[in-house]
Amino acid sequence: MTFRDLNLNTPLYNALDDLGFTTPTPIQAEAFNIVSSGRDIVGIAQTGTGKTFAYMLPILKNLKFSKQENPRVLILVPTRELVVQVVEEIEKLTKYINTRVLGVYGGTNINTQKMAVAEGLDILVATPGRLYDLALSRVLQLKSIQKLVIDEVDVMLDLGFRHQLINIFDILPEKRQNIMFSATMTEDVDDLLNDFFTIPERVSIAVSGTPLENIEQTRYNVPNFFTKVNLLVHILNDAETFNKVIVFVSNKKIADKLFEELDLHFKEELCVIHSNKTQNYRLRSIEQFRNGENRILVATDVMARGLDIENVSHVINLDTPDYPENYMHRIGRTGRAERKGEAILLSTEKEQEARENIERLMNMEIPVLELPEMVEISDQLLEEERTKVKERNNPTKRSEEDMPGPAFHEKKAKNQKENLGGSYKFKIAKKYKKPKTRGDKNYNKRNKRK
Ligand code: AMP
Repeated sequence: MTFRDLNLNTPLYNALDDLGFTTPTPIQAEAFNIVSSGRDIVGIAQTGTGKTFAYMLPILKNLKFSKQENPRVLILVPTRELVVQVVEEIEKLTKYINTRVLGVYGGTNINTQKMAVAEGLDILVATPGRLYDLALSRVLQLKSIQKLVIDEVDVMLDLGFRHQLINIFDILPEKRQNIMFSATMTEDVDDLLNDFFTIPERVSIAVSGTPLENIEQTRYNVPNFFTKVNLLVHILNDAETFNKVIVFVSNKKIADKLFEELDLHFKEELCVIHSNKTQNYRLRSIEQFRNGENRILVATDVMARGLDIENVSHVINLDTPDYPENYMHRIGRTGRAERKGEAILLSTEKEQEARENIERLMNMEIPVLELPEMVEISDQLLEEERTKVKERNNPTKRSEEDMPGPAFHEKKAKNQKENLGGSYKFKIAKKYKKPKTRGDKNYNKRNKRK
């Protein structure tokens, strides 16, 4: 397949020719028709797969010339670096098209950005916070947005942008196309999709080039978290074999819990990264792991995915990812550049279905090992292991582990929406801490009117 098969137009072909690109990447080939058709789509693809062009090519092909000032395409990304990068990519593609592209992000003068917005634009690339501020200032009108792209949804949610995204959805036209990309699927991503979108089409690019043949995979059946910790300690005691190990966990709460447990045994050899740690802390952890100062890195999926660390001897999956793609991302951290790597998967009874899905994706079975005898079976259970049925896909219910951590900014009580029912005035009075006794002026006024 070549770009000619996508029926683009001459200006786009010329731009691609200048770049020397002839063949669409898999995500570009797979996403093109869906994005063109106007349907909602979720693409599972990492940076480096060509995902920016995967949404931009069909969008630009169909974007008609217009003199109107309000943007028609909004692209939300989690960081200012990504704003710059995406704008640059779009500029490469629009070399021969009269398209106005603007990137905005926080931490810089908003007035300069307001002036740029006022000049009129077609495509706006933004971080959520700054976008919202500009929209509130009314300089930026979002009523003409036809297409919303959210890039790196997993990172957005991991950084605590859920509320901001929801606020933005509120001020966008309801009739629009939603195009989302995420490198990993997490429960947070799943929840957002279930809560706000009508079942988008899913395009998944199996992590290509993962040198499965370089990675020896094994697995254990383990009854619960604390037994997993015991097994992990047993494994990690062999420091010679397990000399550079990433231990993957699904969320930051478990990451902290595991860190606490492992710290008792491997204090000097241990570091951790997840999104509640400061940027400096994360950089230091990664550096110490990279240069061998620390032997063991505990990491969440989202935080570890950009890591390119050489000579990782083992990837240990403390839990079994619900989404097989995440397993592929994880084990791809080892066995790089022709070196041998090993991956170990720990699964409880509840995780067997997820394990089978992974095996189906890889079209192979992971050999199972017996739990070593000296590993103590714990009967201690985590809170979440005690709950009998874990209700997934129920947007109104969240298990404790899914609750946002401190990076997640809850609205102040008085700003929180709730069903105000009949007695809402009293509730509002309570929120604003006004007295609601009979001596209260407002209370008496209200009662007199009745
Ligand atoms: P992205 O995944 O969007 O960050 O893109 C990764 C890099 O691949 C960027 O530098 C793109 O310019 C480049 N790229 C995108 N599409 C293609 C293609 N079809 N052929 C070769 N390179 C590409």
